[in-house]
Amino acid sequence: MRLGYQRRRVSWFGSVLKQSKAFLAQERTPREELERVRAQRLERLLAHARERSAFYRERIPAGPVSLERVPPLGKDEMMSRFDDLVTDPSLRRDALLEWVETRERDEFYADRYRVMTTSGSSGRKGLFVYDQAGWAAIGGQFLRGSAWMGLTPAIPRRRLALLGGSSLTHMSTQGAATLRVGVHNVLGLPVTLPIEQQVAALNRFRPQVLNAYPSAAMRLAEEQEAGRLKLSLTAMSTSSELRTPAMTERLAAAFGVVPFDFYATTEGLFGYECERHDGIHLFEDVSIVENVDEDGRPVPPGEPGARVLVTNLYNRVQPVIRLAVADVMTMHPEPCPCGRTLVRAAAIEGRSDDVLALPARGGGTVTVLPAHFSVITRDRAVREFQVRQEPGGVRVLVVPCADGDPGLESRLRGAVSDALAELGADASVEVERCGSLARRGGKIQIVQALPG
Ligand SMILES: [Zn+2]
Repeated sequence: MRLGYQRRRVSWFGSVLKQSKAFLAQERTPREELERVRAQRLERLLAHARERSAFYRERIPAGPVSLERVPPLGKDEMMSRFDDLVTDPSLRRDALLEWVETRERDEFYADRYRVMTTSGSSGRKGLFVYDQAGWAAIGGQFLRGSAWMGLTPAIPRRRLALLGGSSLTHMSTQGAATLRVGVHNVLGLPVTLPIEQQVAALNRFRPQVLNAYPSAAMRLAEEQEAGRLKLSLTAMSTSSELRTPAMTERLAAAFGVVPFDFYATTEGLFGYECERHDGIHLFEDVSIVENVDEDGRPVPPGEPGARVLVTNLYNRVQPVIRLAVADVMTMHPEPCPCGRTLVRAAAIEGRSDDVLALPARGGGTVTVLPAHFSVITRDRAVREFQVRQEPGGVRVLVVPCADGDPGLESRLRGAVSDALAELGADASVEVERCGSLARRGGKIQIVQALPG
């Protein structure tokens, strides 16, 4: 049984490697060529979904291929119609959810699927199933991004430390299990481990490359500056939480390398910063990304959308076509000087963090993005923080560094009040110290809106 698992893992890893090479080879193809290839993939995906999924048969009109004629899909609808949506009738939502939650080690479902869940701030779980070809695209995107930061397969194997969540149902955990087959020497550490143990394990392992959530990376920067952590990195990456310019600067100073930011979703859309560190290139040769406003209308480059509609061109077992993902993106209007033709998201906000509507001076509301709270990260006495919306304003919870000074609260209150006033908000600001912040899946939700 475990022998089957090992063989399968090696075989799946082979597909991942092959796919990543194909991705790397095509990222500088001219835009028109990329769009032509993508249109062909879309045509095949829509035909496949119409033929094999009862759900999509109702939604995809026959005739010429046009994505705009397929209605957008919400996560709730995807979950309530899951059994009709998948193209393998042996996949049943309730059975999958039960299986995925009760596993005690990394496994394939029915010997041929990877199954993952997402939590999401809306509360309802998302369920995603990948077969070998679909997973090759997921892993291939990860390896492509890693190659951009210089992490390519080498002998002796490079040491990669992944600091993240520990849930077996999460994509990052299953991604690490895939990589552990042999290409890199991988150490996975849960961020919830006490900091002394993180430091000891990392000092022992001596990683050349480190990936962590920004808040966890900042905590390690403090240890590195204090001389307790002794890492000598060739590259580092962060993902999934807000990383402000002040944080980037401090991480670069502590570790001697500029961190690469990346974006990864279980839905299938990935993106990485290139060596220019000016926006995240979205891997839109694998997915189609539509940036839309509240009413679902396309948003031009340079302006923030309300959500993106993601079409995954590789997942044939659970077709994801125009699925709404609650990330606020602003597309870069210019092509990147690096020569890659993949579009760049100048900013990505949301998903785990909320966008706030705060009362405005003179009535109405102002929109406040998570990045507007970046002033908090400029204060070196702040280790971690969370902004919670309250009636009439916000409360900032702060975990101070060991020597957090007595003036911290009033300093932060002033800085945040000024930043909000500049946006035209008329909101109260309270600052409160605390010992720790709750993490979900290892992440801190930096900004929390009032429910409803
Ligand atoms: Zn670039």
